[in-house]
Amino acid sequence: MNILLATSEAVPFAKTGGLGDVSGALPIALAELGEQVSVIMPAFRSVKTCGEPIEPTGIDLEISIGKKTVRGSLLKGRLPRSQVPVYFVEQDDYFDRPELYGEDGKDYEDNCERFVFFSRAVLEAIRLLNLKVDLLHANDWQTGLLPAYLKTLLAGVPPYEQIATLFTVHNLAYQGNFWHWDMLLTGLDWKYFNWHQMEFHGNLNFMKTGLAFADAINTVSPRYAEEIQSSPLGCGLEGILQHRREVLSGIINGVSYDLWNPETDSHLAANYGPETAEAGKAACKAALQKEMGLPVEADVPLLGFVGRLAEQKGIDLIAGVMQQWVESSDAQWVLLGTGEAKYHELFEKMAERYPAKVAAQLAFSNPLAHRIEAGSDVFLMPSRYEPCGLNQLYSLKFGTIPVVRATGGLADTIVNATDATLASGEANGFCFHEYSQLALSEALTRTLEAYADKPTWNRLIQNAMQQDWSWSRSAKQYVQLYQQTIERVKQEVCT
Ligand code: ADP
Repeated sequence: MNILLATSEAVPFAKTGGLGDVSGALPIALAELGEQVSVIMPAFRSVKTCGEPIEPTGIDLEISIGKKTVRGSLLKGRLPRSQVPVYFVEQDDYFDRPELYGEDGKDYEDNCERFVFFSRAVLEAIRLLNLKVDLLHANDWQTGLLPAYLKTLLAGVPPYEQIATLFTVHNLAYQGNFWHWDMLLTGLDWKYFNWHQMEFHGNLNFMKTGLAFADAINTVSPRYAEEIQSSPLGCGLEGILQHRREVLSGIINGVSYDLWNPETDSHLAANYGPETAEAGKAACKAALQKEMGLPVEADVPLLGFVGRLAEQKGIDLIAGVMQQWVESSDAQWVLLGTGEAKYHELFEKMAERYPAKVAAQLAFSNPLAHRIEAGSDVFLMPSRYEPCGLNQLYSLKFGTIPVVRATGGLADTIVNATDATLASGEANGFCFHEYSQLALSEALTRTLEAYADKPTWNRLIQNAMQQDWSWSRSAKQYVQLYQQTIERVKQEVCT
């Protein structure tokens, strides 16, 4: 199959979140399965400064945006350690900026125009590069117009008439909502500005457009695909998602085990695998306690958290339970994250007041994230919602037992430890349902009871570490979904 993945982020060229990880890793896994895959993305400033080789193609673009024509060009590179071509749409007025989507918490005012340009440039690039494309894989709101152009302006127009589309939702909360007059920039007829297709409460909505026009839709976990069909996680788009549920599915993201593997990880005090987990984790735990200024105590449970300090991540629950537990339990807490100022203050205060129990690094540090994954006993993810979540998957590989709220990808990957799931070998963590401090506290009580029982804890660690959440597993599911979608579209064209 010939797949073109259109995205606004791909590691190592540009990243603000999970979309960048997926777009950087999935194409390589697809190529390893024998698929012909290319990537196309904007030539943001970070693309040019990331150190990867980029070359001009000599191809220029002229794109209509409303009444004006905007020029750009195409550059070419590759995903590192692969032959996967990456095409970059260069237009410095739009993309040569310090950030991808906005600065100081404010979106760029011309985001609509920037991504209309990008979408139309993707379609022009297919023609000018003579790319054979069986399926165009669009991702999140930034590429939501692509399925619409193919189904309207370009319907039946060679070389576009056979191209099927898959639209992947990485986080429904970010929708690309614009003033209705921005419809004029898209070049699409006003007749599509209706509540079934592009209009959302009087605005132009790129996410909704993608959901309405794509041949198939998926999210980054099956549970999230279910959850977004109702309120509140549908974020107002639950109606259209219900309407399209027959073509909506979920595929869990993979993990890049070349980066996240305790057997080879250069950030750790000791490397270990399933057979050497006991000694290896003990060494990593002692090193982490030392690094974070906590007393080095082997038998005290160490609870870790890495992530954005945002309500989505359940950080308010962690703060509340920590305040309750810090006087009554011997558990130690290690936090790494940046985000809302009130949590920075709170965790700084907690660390000052309870230096033997709480350590907080309010920064972004990839090496420390690895050391927390390895050195903690328990990893906390009490998220309010979680489209997929990566940290729980890293935790499994590192033999660090996740405590999660059963939502989205967390519900799909973590099996709550009970007598039955321990006996069947499926248990790999602890889950709770209600979004409350009490529910998290109860789950942690169960977790620490298991921690105190060495054979049970070791069984959990072994279950966790044996699991395979690699990209090749997810890529096989994408191949199936691509195939089904292409076949279905062919049949629809014939009938
Ligand atoms: P989301 O994309 O919603 O932020 P994910 O769990 O899917 O959540 O991915 C978050 C990624 O960002 C993980 O790789 C995690 O280790 C990393 N990360 C988040 N905050 C930090 C931080 N402060 N320092 C280092 N890595 C971080």
